[in-house]
Parts: sequence; C-alpha cells; structure tokens
Amino acid sequence: MKKGKKLYEGKAKILYATNDKNLVIQYFKDDATAFNNQKKTTIEGKGVLNNRISEHILSNLSQIGIKNHLVKRLNMREQIIKLVEIIPIEFIVRNVATGSITKRLGIEDGTVLKEPLIEYCLKDDKLGDPLVAEEHIIAFDWASKKEIDKVKKIILRINDFMIGMFRGVGIKLIDFKLEFGRIKINSKNEIILADEISPDTCRLWDSVTDKKLDKDRFRKDLGDLIPAYTEVAKRLGILHEQSNVSAVNVTKLSSIRRKK
Ligand code: 5GP
Repeated sequence: MKKGKKLYEGKAKILYATNDKNLVIQYFKDDATAFNNQKKTTIEGKGVLNNRISEHILSNLSQIGIKNHLVKRLNMREQIIKLVEIIPIEFIVRNVATGSITKRLGIEDGTVLKEPLIEYCLKDDKLGDPLVAEEHIIAFDWASKKEIDKVKKIILRINDFMIGMFRGVGIKLIDFKLEFGRIKINSKNEIILADEISPDTCRLWDSVTDKKLDKDRFRKDLGDLIPAYTEVAKRLGILHEQSNVSAVNVTKLSSIRRKK
C-alpha cells in the first residue's frame, strides 16, 4: 500500500490518500487541543497510545457486528481505514453527567443518568461545535431521520459493549463522542462507525478512586496524561505490565509489540 498526499489535517489526526481510492491512512498525532483549540500542546507518545487503544476497541466492536472504518493498524501511528463521507455531527453519549452538560444545565457533577443520554453537536470548529436538536439535523439535511434512528441503535449497542468492557478492567465509562460516515458496500448505502475511540474521545474514571484516565488530565491541567492513557492500555491488555512508564518506552513498546 502506497502512502499518497495529505488529504486532511485535523486537531489530532492526519488523513493520507493511498493507491486504493476506497482506503486512506489515518495518522495519530501527539497534538492535544481543548476548548475549541484555545489550549494546545504536544504530548509525546499520545498518538501511539490512541492508535493502539482505538484499534483495540474498534476491532472488538467489529467482532460483535458493529461495522466500522478500521481495516488494520499499519504501524505505531497509522491505520488503514475505509474512506467514508463523514456525517457532520458529533454524537455524544453520556452515562454520568460531567463536563459541558453540568455547566449548560446546572446538573450536579457526577450525577448518574437513569438512561444513556445522546446529544448531537454540529461539527464546526468556527461555531464551537454547537449543540443541535434532531430537528436541526433533519431540517438542514445533515442526516435523514432514518439515518439518525439507525445511528441511535448502533450507539446504544456500542455503549452497552464499552460499559462492560471497561467495567471488567475497573474503569467507569462516563461519556464519549462518536462519529459516523456513509459508505457504499456492495453497492448498498451503509452507515458505519468512523474516527477513533480513545481516552481523547471518552471520559474514563477509575471505578474505585474516580481518578481521571482521559483527556480531562490535559483539559484540567492534572498532568500525567501519558501514565493515565498507558494505564488504560495496560488494563485492556494492549500493553503489558512494566514499571516506570514514560512516553519514550511507550513508543518503544508499541514498535516491539506491533501486531502482524
Ligand atoms: P463535553 O460535551 O462534556 O465537553 O464532552 C463529552 C464527551 O465527548 C467527552 O468524553 C469528550 O471527550 C467528548 N468530546 C466532545 N467533543 C469532542 C471533540 O471535539 N473532540 C474530542 N476528542 N472529544 C470530544
């Protein structure tokens, strides 16, 4: 597979063309951004960990029949993915209220929700990814009612699976963001899961201590982001136990333990 020209550069990832028009290479950067790009830095090793964690979760979702864009991981920072037409909506799934919803609605931080709550945000950095209603999505043709209904069903399955997967390793899945894309498979229009699922896109709290093991470590200046992401990777069985974790040995480990 030949790597072609850069097609798109986002805040945390870059997409490159390949010699197959249906496939692209997704490169995970070390850049961290928050608050609509107002806060930025580079955290060495973050891209490597997100590549591995996202590969693990998307492969597991595939195994339970949830179609997604991942074809295979190429190396420590890159994956081959299917080219999709991204639906311009961020689908936010909440099991526990924290983050923007607590500020927006005055809900107490840590409130456990009776049912998973799905929120929609328009993917538009210039507008600050505003919250929109299902009616806006339909009115402005960002997605059809049929597509939204399908995505909602998939989201609830993903949430159930991920709650269980993380619970099994002593982590609470608080909330997360998903993106979906349109693709033709055997000349049939389908909607599949796209983007990434990682500690950059989820809130993950230790089940016992509520320690944050996600991007809030950067957003809230808590520090130790790499040890937290490494902890998630180790608990999921992606990285093996070893003492003295640092970005450098995360990088080494990833190249040594690359899957065939
Ligand atoms: P909140 O709306 O509370 O800021 O975020 C809810 C969840 O969605 C969090 O897990 C957060 O990480 C994720 N999320 C929302 N918007 C974005 C985004 O633009 N980028 C990333 N990486 N995650 C997001």
